[in-house]
Amino acid sequence: MRVVESIKGMQDLSESLRRQGKVIAFVPTMGYFHKGHLKLFEEGRKRGDVLVVSLFVNPIQFGKGEDFETYPRDFERDKGLAEEAGVDVLFTPSAEEMYPEGFQTYVTVERVTKNLCGAFRPGHFKGVTTVVAKLFNIVKPHIAIFGEKDYQQLVTVRRMVKDLNMDVEVVGVPTVREDDGLAMSSRNTYLSPEERKAATLLYRALKEGERLYREGERNGRNIVKAVESVLRRESLIRIEYVKVCDPETIEDLETIEERALLALAARIGKARLIDNLLLSP
Ligand code: AMP
Repeated sequence: MRVVESIKGMQDLSESLRRQGKVIAFVPTMGYFHKGHLKLFEEGRKRGDVLVVSLFVNPIQFGKGEDFETYPRDFERDKGLAEEAGVDVLFTPSAEEMYPEGFQTYVTVERVTKNLCGAFRPGHFKGVTTVVAKLFNIVKPHIAIFGEKDYQQLVTVRRMVKDLNMDVEVVGVPTVREDDGLAMSSRNTYLSPEERKAATLLYRALKEGERLYREGERNGRNIVKAVESVLRRESLIRIEYVKVCDPETIEDLETIEERALLALAARIGKARLIDNLLLSP
């Protein structure tokens, strides 16, 4: 596995791989790898000749008072895991090189970023799309892989790629969960044992919403109410939002015609956790 730190080094490497006719698969990450990341790497290995993973805790997608400083970081551990997983290139740029003095160009995707996390984390998706656009220009991938765990992010990146005619195939990968259902996340490390136990309710609440949908409930508000009432059983959980929305437009759905995204965000202790389920016949 090669570790590349400089932007020019990565661009030159990708250019030469492309000239050799290699298909470049790319997984952008913020590191502190777990099985969710490893699943994305596996998908990348299957789909490309060369797998590039970026490890960059992107400062501009964190708001004031969010966890940029405390976000878990362990480069040596991540390097070992990436190597084991068959990653070919680990790209680890510095914030100084990514955002040098004078930086002032951003990518903004509009409507699909308004609801859900976009409503609670102003500027977050602007930071995400800007860094992903930059990473695409640096890594020059043919294929880029994202997790459905961050569903709104996946929809937003797809929209950007389409609207800006980026020549990248975006692939989504289903959420990888712990045995008790909790979605894997680097932020789960913030949880105390007691909070970790409480966190299992997030998935159980979503499953309760899914159960109602399976029984024929099509009223978005009724599903939201049922999910919230499961979450309220646990005083350690502070609900940020529970929403039923259109999986393409990310707008609230009063009545589910066919498919819907059931998404939630909650705070437990120091962690802000998100999860979702796609409701589909
Ligand atoms: P992160 O390092 O948290 O920014 O995540 C990097 C990529 O991994 C994103 O595309 C995430 O959606 C994806 N990801 C994170 N957690 C999971 C999970 N539990 N299952 C599947 N993909 C995930």
